Formats: sequence, C-alpha cells, structure tokens
Amino acid sequence: MAETKMTHKDYISSLKPIWCPGCGDFAVLNAVAKALATMELPNEKVAVVSGIGCSSRLPGYLNTYGFNAIHGRALPIAAGLKLSRPDITVLAVGGDGDIFSIGGNHLPHVARRNIDLTCIVMDNGIYGLTKGQVSPTTPIGEKTITTVYGSIEDPIQPLKLLLSYEASFVAQSTSLDLNHLVAMLVAAMRHKGFSFVNVRSPCVTYRGKDQYDIIRQRSKYIDQLPDYDPTDMRTAWHHAITPEYISLGILYQKPRDTYDQRQLKLREVARGNHDWSINDVMNGFML
Ligand code: SF4
Repeated sequence: MAETKMTHKDYISSLKPIWCPGCGDFAVLNAVAKALATMELPNEKVAVVSGIGCSSRLPGYLNTYGFNAIHGRALPIAAGLKLSRPDITVLAVGGDGDIFSIGGNHLPHVARRNIDLTCIVMDNGIYGLTKGQVSPTTPIGEKTITTVYGSIEDPIQPLKLLLSYEASFVAQSTSLDLNHLVAMLVAAMRHKGFSFVNVRSPCVTYRGKDQYDIIRQRSKYIDQLPDYDPTDMRTAWHHAITPEYISLGILYQKPRDTYDQRQLKLREVARGNHDWSINDVMNGFML
C-alpha cells in the first residue's frame, strides 16, 4: 500500500491558539507546519524549543516534541538538545524581546559555533504578552506604554547583528507572505549549520493593524534581484542595514564546519590510535 503523504495538519496539535485575532504568529505556526510537511519529517524527529512571550507559545500548538523554557533560554537549551541528539531537527523560536534582549547573550555564541539548528524570531517590535512595553526592535520615536512620549532608543537591527556574529545562514521573511516564509524555513532547516530567520510578524493589538500595510509597502524581495549572490557578505551587509526598505529573502548563506562536526574530529584526535577501554580511561585519572 502506498504511504500517505504528510500534510501541514499532521504537525498541528489539538491545542487551540489563544493569540489575538490577526496576530502574525498564526501565519508563522502554519508556515512551520507546512515547512515540516514539505520536508516530510517524522513528528518524533522534530523538537521545538521556546522561551517566554506570545510567540513562545508556538511549541504547544505543534504536534512535535516541544519545550517551553524560561525567558530568553530557548537557544542554549536547543543547542544542548542538538548536540546530544544530532539526529533530530531542532528549532528555537521566540519573539524579539526573548531572543535579542533577555536571551541576547546566547545568540552570538550559538551563531559563531555554527550549531546545526534553526532560530526563528517572530519580530513584532513590542513585548505583547506583558501588554505593550518597548522592545529591542521598537522603532525610535514609537509610543508604547513605557515610552509614552516616544522611544528614545535606537533599535537593534537583527540582520546586521547576525551577519557580524558569523551566522552561516541569515534570512528574513514576513507573516504577510506565507509561501515566501515557508520557502525560507525549508531552506533554513536544510542548511547544515546555524540558520536564522527573522520574521516581520505584526502585533495588531499593541502596534496596530496598520503594521500589515507598513510591512507590505516597505518590503523588497532581495533574493529575486538578478545575480543576487547570497555568499557575498558585502552585498548582504548592504541589504541588512539599508533604511530604504525591509529586505526579504536569504541575505547570506555560506556553509562551514558545524560544531558537532568539529567535535567529532576532536574526539578522533584525542583518541589517537588507541582503542581505549573504560578501565584505561579510569586509570588515566589515578595517581
Ligand atoms: Fe499577537 Fe500582539 Fe496579541 Fe501577542 S498581544 S497575541 S503578539 S497580537
């Protein structure tokens, strides 16, 4: 009998999302499920780790392994999981506050080590779960409940950060374009090494419904430009920092050894030509 093909519904759990109607996170949930179905990954071979925030509810809505960790700690937990279980596909998901602020110190180290996992940030420029405080990606001048006269902070630029952290795959997409988002997630998961996808995902409740129009009007598909070369760091940098438009697509992709590949080589060097038994190892610690 022919095998039944997986569909995105096979990856959606029975838990009903409690996001606000119109929240961009619905599209990200569907895109992750569609990407997993495209890759025909068995449910038990996928683990999704998150921190705290509206978008960090996502693992509960998926029919895969999931872990809802503490604030900002999705990446170190996902990294540990991947190193102990290299056979599974690991996703770390969260919002801009969770990943860039509370968990900001984990990002450069997972990126530079090139640990083979995919980080998806639902970047809405606000702390939505805690009712609308200024976040690391809130635009300067924007009024929030903690910046009632307008934010006086320069926001983090995620793509610029990830390029300087030596991430081997950097992409951006949006909740407004499901097909593009699915394509970016599939490419990110297929990439061997650390992959980062920033998703411009509107918080309609605390930043307004016009976020959809703003993102739509300012978006530019840079990977559809003729002769675009994602291995060229200088071009990627240009599209990451330009204030003219929101760059969508794979900005940069350059595979290199992953941490687990280097770890395996290191084990071989340490072992040398010896066939060590457990007694040999224990005797090595004896005086
Ligand atoms: Fe989405 Fe914002 Fe509502 Fe949170 S508060 S569920 S981010 S729309």
